Amino acid sequence: MSNNEPMISFDRDHIWHPYTSAVNPLTVYPVAGTDGVRIILEDGTELIDGMASWWCAIHGYNNPVLSKALCDQAQKMPHVMFGGLTHEPAVTLARKLIDLSPAPLQHVFFADSGSVSVEVALKMAIQYFQGTGRTEKNRIMTIRNGYHGDTLGCMSVCDPVNGMHSLFSSVLPKHIFAEAPSCRYDEGCTDEDFADFKSKIESHAHELAAVILEPVVQGAGGMRFYSPEYLKRVREACDEHDVLLICDEIATGFCRAGAVFGSDLAGISPDIMCVGKAITGGYMTLAATLATEKVAQGISSDGGVFMHGPTFMANPLACAVANASLDLLVESNWEERIPQITTMLEDGFSPCANLPTVAEVRCLGTIGVVEMKQPVDLDAIQAEFVKRGVWVRPFGKLIYVMPPYVISNLELEALTSAICEVVSLQG
Ligand SMILES: *Cc1c(COP(=O)(O)O)cnc(C)c1O
Repeated sequence: MSNNEPMISFDRDHIWHPYTSAVNPLTVYPVAGTDGVRIILEDGTELIDGMASWWCAIHGYNNPVLSKALCDQAQKMPHVMFGGLTHEPAVTLARKLIDLSPAPLQHVFFADSGSVSVEVALKMAIQYFQGTGRTEKNRIMTIRNGYHGDTLGCMSVCDPVNGMHSLFSSVLPKHIFAEAPSCRYDEGCTDEDFADFKSKIESHAHELAAVILEPVVQGAGGMRFYSPEYLKRVREACDEHDVLLICDEIATGFCRAGAVFGSDLAGISPDIMCVGKAITGGYMTLAATLATEKVAQGISSDGGVFMHGPTFMANPLACAVANASLDLLVESNWEERIPQITTMLEDGFSPCANLPTVAEVRCLGTIGVVEMKQPVDLDAIQAEFVKRGVWVRPFGKLIYVMPPYVISNLELEALTSAICEVVSLQG
């Protein structure tokens, strides 16, 4: 470790890490490389990756097919501006996204991160009602416990309690929050479960442009899985009240929850959909916002143009690696493999379920969650995981994994048993 000390201390003194103090930062572990589902630290420690680098690295790291796609594209054309120009990697990717997503989604806007794709979605909804002459419909409704990104527009629809609202309340627009769904994934959705959403959308419909939510899986806002029936009722209520539905599929997209998209679990189709994270298999930052013909027409109905255009829009490197990643996914046997992973997560975490410190264990698709009764000490618990050769990054009370889909059974067992062992030491 000692020869890395200059690097670590420079990092500590000068570099921000996510959600971290500049003065008293948490530990960071220097990484020398990655290989398959392993993260290799500078001191040679190999960690089985339980996080897929925050939902992204679905095919594992250093995947030869993705690396080749990236290198080939770098030889041809690393980047060109997208204003007035187009290129094959972008067109191919747009075709793939339109093919994979629910049929009504026909228009693609390439964004450079998930948060930007959410900003784009919110702007599309507001411009849609401007374009169609209903300018009073300019507010957004969402459900509590959501997470939609870190930029200002995104923060305004993140959970107002466990998000960052309190710090920024003076600058954030005030949107409308329904209670988080109380019906769980394997339950139906009763009138009572839907009552709060129903009454809020009814009373605010005249001023609402859109509802935004994460379909079925609420990720960074609490790792909760709710009933697909609830999402169906949201879709119906949006139709009834002429409110657009935005599904934020940035975490759920590309098979993470057991279907290609979270909205597929409910058999619904949003008006606007955000995708990101796993789209490039964890190689590059890229996201996209898809919209229906109706939304695209509405925005442009009085000659209007959609007002957004990032510098690195449709970056060819990112598009090329995304094309390779989506091909790998479609050609893989994910429909068989993902339920196997679910079963292994359920079995692997079952020893935790009855521990006095554990509130609940829940699994869906390739997502496994051990919810503790008390928040964990992040620095201390992370050190215990590293000692046992696994990479897991809890937050609050949540110890959770969403490994690369290519993880082997042995690696998955090692991951869950290390977690159970560390959880059993808590108390
Ligand atoms: C990660 C995430 C975002 C933000 O994406 P970034 O690429 O980090 O900007 C938005 N919504 C959901 C559901 C996410 O999981």
